[in-house]
Amino acid sequence: MAAPGLDAPKAPPRLTPTTPLQFLPGVGPGRAARLEKLDLRTVDDLLHHVPRDYVDARKVVPIARLVPGELVTVVGKVTASEARRLRGRTDLRARVADDSGTLGVTWFGQGWLSKSVTPGATVVLIGSLAPGPGRQFANPLFEVLAEDAKELLAAGRIVPRHALTAGISGRALRGFVRRALDAVGPGLDDADPLPADWRARLALPGLAEALETVHFPADLDAAERARRRLALDELLLVQLVLTLRRRARQESGQGLVTARGVARARAAIAALPFEATVAQKRAVNEIVADMKRPRAMHRLLVGDVGSGKTVVALLAAACAAEAGVQVAVMAPTEILADQHFRTLSSLGAAAGLAIARWTGSTGERDRRELRRRLALPAGDPLGVDVLVGTHALLEPDVPLPRLGLVVVDEQHRFGVRQRAALASKGPGLPDVLVMTATPIPRTLAMTFLGDLDVSVLDERPKHRQAIVTRLLDETKREELYAFLAAEFARGRQAYVVVPLVEESEKTDLRAAKAMVETLERHPRLSAFPWGLLHGRLKPAEKDKVMAAFTARRVSGLVATTVIEVGVDVPNATVMVVEHAERFGLTQLHQLRGRVGRGAERSVCVLVAGPRASAEARERLALLVRTDDGFRLAEEDLQARGPGELWGSRQTGLPALRVADLVRDLDLVEAAQEMARGLIREDPQLERPRSAVLRERLLRSFGEELSWKATG
Ligand code: ADP
Ligand code: MG
Repeated sequence: MAAPGLDAPKAPPRLTPTTPLQFLPGVGPGRAARLEKLDLRTVDDLLHHVPRDYVDARKVVPIARLVPGELVTVVGKVTASEARRLRGRTDLRARVADDSGTLGVTWFGQGWLSKSVTPGATVVLIGSLAPGPGRQFANPLFEVLAEDAKELLAAGRIVPRHALTAGISGRALRGFVRRALDAVGPGLDDADPLPADWRARLALPGLAEALETVHFPADLDAAERARRRLALDELLLVQLVLTLRRRARQESGQGLVTARGVARARAAIAALPFEATVAQKRAVNEIVADMKRPRAMHRLLVGDVGSGKTVVALLAAACAAEAGVQVAVMAPTEILADQHFRTLSSLGAAAGLAIARWTGSTGERDRRELRRRLALPAGDPLGVDVLVGTHALLEPDVPLPRLGLVVVDEQHRFGVRQRAALASKGPGLPDVLVMTATPIPRTLAMTFLGDLDVSVLDERPKHRQAIVTRLLDETKREELYAFLAAEFARGRQAYVVVPLVEESEKTDLRAAKAMVETLERHPRLSAFPWGLLHGRLKPAEKDKVMAAFTARRVSGLVATTVIEVGVDVPNATVMVVEHAERFGLTQLHQLRGRVGRGAERSVCVLVAGPRASAEARERLALLVRTDDGFRLAEEDLQARGPGELWGSRQTGLPALRVADLVRDLDLVEAAQEMARGLIREDPQLERPRSAVLRERLLRSFGEELSWKATG
């Protein structure tokens, strides 16, 4: 059959914001694939890829006029550069000259920069003059300038610096943005999500103007105004989603009563081998009050590592079981699922809880048997009250016909879709309790969790010893090994965590294996058995390693961060973290929380890698000084942004390309107010002024919104 027009040359598609980037002139499939590494897929993504910062030609300081200590921008030509090896480290030393003078620059431990900092290149340096004789910059931020940027600078303009990726230069990216703006800019104001009356009231620039200004500003104040306007767009969309989600949940009429009496919870409390803390009791009361209402609970339980969240989950589960409702407990890894299974089984015995486990490695015969038991009615002696597992519980072949409560350990790996998958198993929208050890700074809570209620465990169980934290560098390695040997000799155990460095798991695995070999061969340590735990092991193999560690057949466990959350082995008293500078403070704090769980004094040793900057060491020193997880999370947010832990990928919310959750707290608040006002006035977003917002919401969240409508 002839397909008319199939052979005719394809006309290039007219560019719109949703056009894939490969069709932007000059990009093509190869570069489009590279841009995807920056999460840029469409023309609109590119337009919202706002510069990280700007080099303002009017602020560039001539080398001769530099003053020590002041953070400035210098533009000059590299006149010489040389990589030098020194005590196992390669530094790059260079000289940079402008019309006024010359400057020495050293990048410590960054010899590889010699490939880009070559004589003749023009570079922008952002740094400050070191005190003392000789004009010197140490470890400045730098960029090699392309020809077009030199011209812009020479013309006294502002050069935007965008985040880049391999194979895409700053110059190329600026060119793409220019072309995108020229192609779609004129039509953008019709697609402005901000209602015109608000824009006028807040004196905000229109969308087209804001995008033009943020990329190619005439002055930096205008650039910041434009950025804030674009940030508000994003935050408004997020707040609308959150407001709609909350409303849908409350009004769905599908909520379940999942708690009635508390007799079984009382029995479980009475049998605990310790006294529950006041905070634990308060949290349980808040949760059970929610469960008793026929509205779907969506509650976050925040408690620092070791604050005892599992007990809270246990008591909620006991109430659910008493009400004839099934509970799903989901952990991010099999190791944790197994641990929860063991803990809940032993602590839940007094409450008569029937607990089962289902993970990816559960065999087919066990599955068949479990499926049968899961389908039994409440009260059947063979029935299952609590099913513990990984995300395998979400699969359609796991029947949970009486599901009423879902407990999720570590929120940042659980999203809206998963919740929907669970909702379809049971008689209605289950109550959801999300537990996390990550303290959440306010902007993040409002942005990513704005539709959740929060309970806090702000009290540690008594008799917990403080953990001693030490910061070491390579020169002290032998002392560390002597200390490990002494702890092992006393029957204690240790973790040695190595970071995930490369994208390739293979390389990381090699690093972890090399570490084990070094430790096994070390004269002080060779007498003690070591184990290795990493992401490429099969679940059953992981179990074996973990079981060996729990049973003390292994003294030291080398691990990639798979042990990060939740592992509970009270006999482990030492946590060593290699290349600690590569971790976030929150992550380190969680790792530290793996020790100090028994009665023995515990120690956390942070080993800074040879290339760790002074700044990074400074940051690590904060862990030595404070045990306050909330303080550390704030610090992480300042230094690293919301990143992995609270990035939008895990929350099913629109990505934030422009908004900066450190700087833009006021915008988060404004957006929340706007969103709530908008929906109050116009619940279905049917008025013309909301048309663009509605369209955007449907485009990004159509699936979720339709789930609400029909679900
Ligand atoms: P996390 O909040 O980090 O998940 P866990 O629930 O794993 O903490 O609890 C950490 C340890 O503290 C466990 O060994 C648990 O049995 C114990 N624990 C929990 N609550 C108390 C308490 N009230 N008093 C003493 N120990 C407790
Ligand atoms: Mg836990």
